[in-house]
Amino acid sequence: MGGDEDSFTKLKQWIIKFKESIHKLDAKKTLSKFNIKPTAGSKKTTMKVVNSKRFMATGGALVVVVIAIAYMIFANNAFGVVVNGVEIAKVKDKRSADSALETLKQGFEKENDAVVAFKSQISYEKIKASKKQLLEGKALEAELKKHIGYSIRSAVIYADDKPVASFKTKDEADRVLKDIEEYFLQGLDRSGVKEISFAEKVEVKEEFSDTLDLMTREDGKNFIIKGTSEIRIHKVESGESFWSISRKYDISIEDLQKANPSANPEKIKIGQEINLVVPKSLIRVKTVEDSTYTDKIPYEQKLELSSSLYKDQSQVRVKGQYGEKEIKAEITKVNGIETGRVILSEKIIKQPKDQILVKGTKDPPPKKGTGTFSTPTRGSITSRFGRRWGRLHEGIDIAAPVGTAVKAADGGEVIFAGTSGTYGKLIKVDHGGGFVTYYGHLSKINVKVGAKVYKGQNIGSVGNTGRSTGPHLHFEIRKNGSPVNPSKYL
Ligand SMILES: [Zn+2]
Repeated sequence: MGGDEDSFTKLKQWIIKFKESIHKLDAKKTLSKFNIKPTAGSKKTTMKVVNSKRFMATGGALVVVVIAIAYMIFANNAFGVVVNGVEIAKVKDKRSADSALETLKQGFEKENDAVVAFKSQISYEKIKASKKQLLEGKALEAELKKHIGYSIRSAVIYADDKPVASFKTKDEADRVLKDIEEYFLQGLDRSGVKEISFAEKVEVKEEFSDTLDLMTREDGKNFIIKGTSEIRIHKVESGESFWSISRKYDISIEDLQKANPSANPEKIKIGQEINLVVPKSLIRVKTVEDSTYTDKIPYEQKLELSSSLYKDQSQVRVKGQYGEKEIKAEITKVNGIETGRVILSEKIIKQPKDQILVKGTKDPPPKKGTGTFSTPTRGSITSRFGRRWGRLHEGIDIAAPVGTAVKAADGGEVIFAGTSGTYGKLIKVDHGGGFVTYYGHLSKINVKVGAKVYKGQNIGSVGNTGRSTGPHLHFEIRKNGSPVNPSKYL
């Protein structure tokens, strides 16, 4: 400061001296002008006057130039630090500004434990400044810090050209990608896998971004897998099931399972946390595997006609058999779900065998009662009509394997076809003349109420439904509502 004033004072004194010497010079000239004046009128005199005026002008210009030179010598050469087009500080030289900027940057880097870059546009311009206007050291740093913004170098994961998540280092971003790969490959049989990649175009680019965008490895992994950082949890309460939770939040069972891959839907416990956010992963893992497996070859069915069967009857004479082939295929999966299969080769191991179905051509008998009954199924009678353990057994039991055809004992109309208490699956056929037959414990019913059936028509299959101790047909004949002994009619 003191030096600054000194130099100004010196400059002023110097200028004053300079002006005085010019005045002296001027005075001399004036004197010579007067000396010459007696010869006025001559050309020479006029010339002298003109010369003297020119000299005065030159002197004035010289003063300006000298002042300028003096200013250049005694005012300081300096630099303006320009941030985003605005001068924010004056410095002695670029070097001191550069070093202040470097210190500032190192401070930012230490603060964030990362590489930073200034966001602001910084440039210098040559200026003149007095010493007291100049900033340096801590004062300069403080001024720069007020005006300069910075961003942090980060590694950004891109999926299909869209930024997905930012991390501090490329190493960390790469580790997150590895975590995601592991997550989607867990529980997957990797024996035939020959290629693991991402379904999306995935890149890690190093960029500068703002501090707040950075994610930790764990948060980044979860965010990418779920496609959101949203967390919605349901705590299981007494009496709740996967199904009731699915209904409560209007989430399908399938989605609920996707959101809780490690939960067992059959065994949820009170207090267990059920994730309600259905994942929509931003990056998916694609695998390509070679697979060898056997597959069935379907058989064909050939038709034969037979006059020994009724028109609406058919019978499998030769059961068809599936063939077998060995297939080599390349299977593509995305997040474990098959998305493509290319068959590379097929080798037949076993040829299929045709099935032969025989269809009847004989006209069926009339669909009404004939007055006589035939045995409804093939098998041995294991329990007869009459008293059994103190109760009336109202029909006969015919043991036969499940699936054996049950035929109407006579023509008539089906008046019941469904489930009925201890009978299990039951058919009742009304034959007219007060006669109704019952067929109980069936495994299958082939007719509907109201259907007309002929004598010997296949109406169902032997089973073990209702109160039954083994596969058999319980057969009753009722006359005017009361059970009669079927053996007397067959
Ligand atoms: Zn019975």
